[in-house]
Amino acid sequence: MKNINEIPAKKAAEIKFILTDIDGTLTGPDGRIAPETYAMLWRLHNAGFKVIPVTGRTAGWAAVAITDWPVDAIIVESGSVVYYLENGSRKEFVHPSVPDDRYSVHEKIREAAFAKNPKIKVSIDQYSRFNDFAFNYAEDEEDKLTFEEAKEVLEAVKAIGAKGNISSIHVNTWFGDYDKLPASLLYLKEHYGIDDPKNCVIYFGDAANDEEMFGYFPTACGVANLVKYAEHMEHLPAYITNLEGGEGFCEAAEILLTAKENAVCEKYGVKK
Ligand SMILES: [Mg+2]
Repeated sequence: MKNINEIPAKKAAEIKFILTDIDGTLTGPDGRIAPETYAMLWRLHNAGFKVIPVTGRTAGWAAVAITDWPVDAIIVESGSVVYYLENGSRKEFVHPSVPDDRYSVHEKIREAAFAKNPKIKVSIDQYSRFNDFAFNYAEDEEDKLTFEEAKEVLEAVKAIGAKGNISSIHVNTWFGDYDKLPASLLYLKEHYGIDDPKNCVIYFGDAANDEEMFGYFPTACGVANLVKYAEHMEHLPAYITNLEGGEGFCEAAEILLTAKENAVCEKYGVKK
């Protein structure tokens, strides 16, 4: 991983889409989004970047957040559904592989997970999930699992045919042929007509469930707290910030804003 300050200005200036994880990436150590980070989302939005959070958070949450966050879309539950606004109206894009009987497959997942570890706790926001079934990993201190325990639960659920991953707070599982990467690629193609998003997208993340995105996008960037998961990961991002969480995101976002401004000035012959 190279320091984000080493990103070539030309490469940074090509970025049009900012895809980003939320928890651990936009949030701080207290789990909250600092005012500076939220303000940065507005600055990026106002500068013309398409900002799209890609998260394991729930559909119920995103259905509300899309109406008041300064973003163009929110891809939730590792890709099961995307919310976006069209002429001010909320729209949803459901991944075609989400099963019709999703609530009955949840029971299979629950059984497999509890057979492996009877102490695990279902995520507190499970009621607002559309297709994902999530267990607490590190969101609540009292029911925290070790990474090894979380991995065992995930493997037990995968053994019955489900997919899943481990975020910085949850073990997320589901039936359906998608994940953060294929869902993002499908949405970029269907909604924006982009066939090859490699050069116009930067992806920000902080944990093992961002690995596929890190492996695919050449300008992916981890925030500094990623280093604690690095030993468990095969694909690391090309770049890493000096600061953690939301502060790291802001650090990198300033570089993108400057690169875009410089490119525009150059195009119109404006001297700064
Ligand atoms: Mg995260």
